[in-house]
Amino acid sequence: MRDFMFAELICFEPACRARFAITEVLYSCPKCGGLLEATYSGEWPEPEQLKKLWRERRMDNAPLEQSGVWRYREMFPFLDSNDHVVTLREGNTPLLNAPVAARYAGLARVTFKHHGFNPTGSFKDNGMTCGTAQAVRLGMKRVACVSTGNTSASMAAYASAAGLQPIIFIPHGNISYGKLAQALEYGARTLQVEANFDQILALVRVLAERLGIYLLNSINPFRIEGQKSIVIEMLDQRDWRVPDWIVLPGGNLGNTSAFGKALRELKALGLIEKLPRLAVVQAEGSAPFYDFVRQPAGTGFVPVTHPETLATAIKIGDPVSWPKALLEVSTTDGVVERASEQEIADAKAQIGLAGIGCEPASAATLAGIRKLVAAGVMDKDADVVAVLTGNVLKDPDYIYKYHTGQLKDPHGESILANYGNSPTVVPNDADKIAALLMGD
Ligand SMILES: *Cc1c(COP(=O)(O)O)cnc(C)c1O
Ligand SMILES: [Zn+2]
Repeated sequence: MRDFMFAELICFEPACRARFAITEVLYSCPKCGGLLEATYSGEWPEPEQLKKLWRERRMDNAPLEQSGVWRYREMFPFLDSNDHVVTLREGNTPLLNAPVAARYAGLARVTFKHHGFNPTGSFKDNGMTCGTAQAVRLGMKRVACVSTGNTSASMAAYASAAGLQPIIFIPHGNISYGKLAQALEYGARTLQVEANFDQILALVRVLAERLGIYLLNSINPFRIEGQKSIVIEMLDQRDWRVPDWIVLPGGNLGNTSAFGKALRELKALGLIEKLPRLAVVQAEGSAPFYDFVRQPAGTGFVPVTHPETLATAIKIGDPVSWPKALLEVSTTDGVVERASEQEIADAKAQIGLAGIGCEPASAATLAGIRKLVAAGVMDKDADVVAVLTGNVLKDPDYIYKYHTGQLKDPHGESILANYGNSPTVVPNDADKIAALLMGD
């Protein structure tokens, strides 16, 4: 089997479709400004041969085959040498059954694909290993992103592992400590700029060009390629049984784009026969995509100027990948739902009670499922896989405040501890403690 195919970048805009060499350093189409994506040509392997090969690789101890991303590299053959790969054994995340969560949502069963099990605790690692490989291949020495979140944590780890210098730009006064701590620990040069996200992005683009820094923001097409492995691995783990629904939270909508692209390509190659429906869930205070799909056709995309949600990973007012996500949602006969801060917080506690746990943005999935089941959009016997995008320990502050009734939404309104679990202060007295525990 040939390991390498012909890869190019292609403009996503249907009216343009300009093509560029895979080794050009581009983040958007120079002709029309559209999004770029990787596209491949050549002789694709037979589907059964691929399934067998991917299974066999699980028994192989080579780092490349131990990666839950690179094991599936035939689906994103953009490199011309595997020597550029840097792997922290990303992917390999479990599919977990959660009867407690299913009951809460009104479903007979639900399965979580938990990307909080990744090396830096979020699905960003699936994409970052590919983005970093491309940076190495291009001969870059430095990589950068604008983010305080999981992207910077992941980029810092992969860049340092690859011997590149990670540079992180942070909007002033907008810091999430769990994730920032990871970036610092993984050796990222961290710059706080007195400007908002969009201003910083413009600044970083200028600096990237001037100093030869490679940008690993969510617009990077190679990160999207890597994130395709999330659904490929999920289907492999299910022996290629396609679920009825795949549910995920939507922020910048890169993951939605990656899932849809993977599913279309798997179907075109004959690895699956039908497409699951995608359900994208946004937070109510940060739901421009939810609003957009409900507008009359022909209406432009309206960003949310001041996005608000405690689920910081999906606090995005102007998602860069919305044109791709729109295609994927319509191709899969998908839906876009939204959930309130209270709904997300309660769903998160239920995922915790299932013994699983996740960060706030991830819990938007279960909150959304519950609403879709109640509305009759999702059948209660449906086969549903929800992707938990981040680890429970990413945001411990939120958890402690929720369980002790101190959590407030962005408007200062209290979020009820409906499934709260507050610690109890007890005296140093065995009888009293025994009496208390007997009462449980
Ligand atoms: C990045 C992120 C998201 C949002 O994904 P998009 O691809 O931006 O839509 C959701 N949850 C977590 C934990 C994330 O890190
Ligand atoms: Zn173009």
